[in-house]
Amino acid sequence: MRLRILLVEDEETISEPLAGHLAREGFQVEVVPTLAQARSALEREMPDLILLDLMLPDGDGRDLAKEIRRSSDVPIVMLTARGEEIDRVLGLELGADDYVVKPFSARELSARIRAILRRGRSPERRSPIQIGDISLDPGARTVTKAGEPIELTPREFDLLHLLMANAGRVVRREEIMDEVWDPHWFGPTKTLDVHISWLRRKLGDDAHEPRYIATVRGVGFRFLVPEGTEGPGEPTGSG
Ligand code: CA
Repeated sequence: MRLRILLVEDEETISEPLAGHLAREGFQVEVVPTLAQARSALEREMPDLILLDLMLPDGDGRDLAKEIRRSSDVPIVMLTARGEEIDRVLGLELGADDYVVKPFSARELSARIRAILRRGRSPERRSPIQIGDISLDPGARTVTKAGEPIELTPREFDLLHLLMANAGRVVRREEIMDEVWDPHWFGPTKTLDVHISWLRRKLGDDAHEPRYIATVRGVGFRFLVPEGTEGPGEPTGSG
């Protein structure tokens, strides 16, 4: 079955070649140039992934992203213009999975789409992880803090999962990009810092005095194991 992509973009110089490329790659693509048409398309059928432009003739793509997130965790990739600050563009509450900055290469975008879709479909059968007051269940894809559920986007979940599975040790930036983004990732990794800051806010963490996620400058990030507890998978009673 062909995977369906809804492309919400009003600039034909972008949407036409991109839709053509994605169709040649085997996706079924529907292009809509306005928020209103995107809403009716979504009412008819939820696609497998949404590519969403920020500035549309009848409004702001971010509003549509927020509406979608109330009822669906369909992957959303924001198409942003150069010069827009990523933090401001995406925002914590938006729940977008990724973004690309125009002008982007259709080939790179389709590689990222495939990585997002692959991650969404692969069955996770690994065991739940509990560290301090944070619990993460890879099967149910749920996270709780002191028993209270925390809502994460698929990408935030994968990021936290990778860090918690390696708790106590530094996970290098390149390793995170490979695992959570795309094995062929190239270019800037600012998106990682943005997602880490969203994750910290959702966990109630502080970058300067971290309880959960510590930055190891220039290297990567480490999930902190509280004193007196074991990291995941560590043998007990050794030494
Ligand atoms: Ca636009």
